[in-house]
Amino acid sequence: MTKLEKILEQYEDFELAFLVKYKFNSYLETSKQAITSELSKRELTKEKLENLIAKYEHQRFHDSLLRCPRCFSTKIGKDSVVFWNTYGRIGLADNIAVFDGMRGKETYKEKLTCMVCDFVINDPNSGGLIALSDAVSRFFQKIWENITNKNRH
Ligand SMILES: [Zn+2]
Repeated sequence: MTKLEKILEQYEDFELAFLVKYKFNSYLETSKQAITSELSKRELTKEKLENLIAKYEHQRFHDSLLRCPRCFSTKIGKDSVVFWNTYGRIGLADNIAVFDGMRGKETYKEKLTCMVCDFVINDPNSGGLIALSDAVSRFFQKIWENITNKNRH
C-alpha cells in the first residue's frame, strides 16, 4: 500500500469529496487512480460527492477543534516558514522579525494549510492584516473560554 493510499483510508467521506473538488487535478496519474479506487471502494459517486460538499459547506461545528474554513476538516498541516513579509506590520513579535531581518537572521513563523483541500489558513507571508483567519481566532477563543470556565469552578 502506498503512502497516499494509507492517507486516503483515514479520510472521512466528506474529506474525500473536498479533496476531489479542490486537489484532484493537481495529482499525477497514479495518485488519481488511487483516489478513484478509494472512491469506488466506498461507492462514492459524483452525485454523492456533490451532496457531501453541499452539506458540509453549510455545516457549522461547535467544537473547539481547529478546522479548515473551507472544508471543515481537522487535518491541518503546520509548516515552519521563513517570515519575510515584515512590511507594514505592527506588534512586538513582528518588530523583532524586522529587527532580526535587518541583522540577516531569519525568523520562522507557522503556516497552517489544510491537508485535504490545500486551503491556506494563515500564511505569515501573505501580507495584509489577516494573519489569523476567523477559524483560528475562534479556536483560540474556545481555548480561552475553556480556561476561564475551569477557573470559575
Ligand atoms: Zn480544507
